[in-house]
Amino acid sequence: MEKDYYKVLGVEKSASKEEIKSAYKRLAKKYHPDLNKDDPNAADKFKELNEAASVLGDDQKRQQYDQFGADAFKYGGAGAGHGGFGAGDFSGFDFSGFGSGGGFDFDSIFDTFFGGGGMGGSRRRRTRSNRGNDLIYEMSITLEDVNKGLKKKIKVTKNSVCEKCEGKGGHGEENCSTCHGSGMVRETRRTPFGIFQTTTSCRACQGNGVNFKDVCDECQGTGRNRASKTIEVSIPAGIMDNARLRVNGEGEAGYRGGPSGDLYILIHVEPHEVFERDDDDLLMKIDINFAQAALGDKIKIPTLDGKANLKIPAGTQPGDVLKMKGEGLKHLHGFGHGDLLVHINVEVPTKLSKKQEKLLKELQSLWLKEES
Ligand SMILES: [Zn+2]
Ligand SMILES: [Zn+2]
Repeated sequence: MEKDYYKVLGVEKSASKEEIKSAYKRLAKKYHPDLNKDDPNAADKFKELNEAASVLGDDQKRQQYDQFGADAFKYGGAGAGHGGFGAGDFSGFDFSGFGSGGGFDFDSIFDTFFGGGGMGGSRRRRTRSNRGNDLIYEMSITLEDVNKGLKKKIKVTKNSVCEKCEGKGGHGEENCSTCHGSGMVRETRRTPFGIFQTTTSCRACQGNGVNFKDVCDECQGTGRNRASKTIEVSIPAGIMDNARLRVNGEGEAGYRGGPSGDLYILIHVEPHEVFERDDDDLLMKIDINFAQAALGDKIKIPTLDGKANLKIPAGTQPGDVLKMKGEGLKHLHGFGHGDLLVHINVEVPTKLSKKQEKLLKELQSLWLKEES
């Protein structure tokens, strides 16, 4: 189940950053493990608060969370190459450094969430860059598909886990001699403005901190290969145009055994010849002649499943909308269907046969007599 970070902090979805900050501050003080030594649940609660704050306190992550939910952070960030660190990294965060007995500095932990000092570190950086990219697959479906839902097999060509080395990249891991396993190297640069020291990713091991005695020749040590995979996707009935479905872990394989990204299916619903869609309702137009409008009739009209009988009441006016309950699309969440709304157009003939003309003239003289 996905956690609702807003509920965890007890704030509205529309809460400002300041509101989130003060809610976190209040709750973090309340549940801090050092102050709740007798409550075994406090530590978990505190961890949950920190997780929520680490996401909602960061504008970019909050946006991703609003869009994709907590799962977007399972592997330390949504993998789209955004900065910062994901909630998943929290397990490695050491709270013991914040002294007990009131010495806990809430403001400093805060700044790590709310855009202050960074928490940079090779472990974190490595985790993030190892995760495979998310992929987007665009799929066009018909309104009939929306009505019934469908299962579809799609073929995705992507960076997949190398079978030969099982994604490891090689055999016989040993610490990188260049960076001594940290994955980072310091570089000193002389420029006209002075001497700068920067820390960059180690080139000898691509920031992994380890190298292999035998590099896999199949994937050249990356742990992945281009390959096609057939994936079955379930599209639920009632799905909206432009909806995105996430297929967990079916994005690109991670670098050297890192976690896979996710696959997003972007749904396009094709326009339909007969029906227009309005949420779960379907709209259609039909033409009837004025005898049908005046006298009433029973006609067959098309539906997404086949045909249905429509009763036209006597005295139907041009522009009337007849509702057929439950003949619309299935609701995406919950049971039942929308309605089919039939817009009536009364056709006025532009060409009349001799007989039709004669009958209409008789009808007209009858109406004129009745009026006078
Ligand atoms: Zn290295
Ligand atoms: Zn390999």
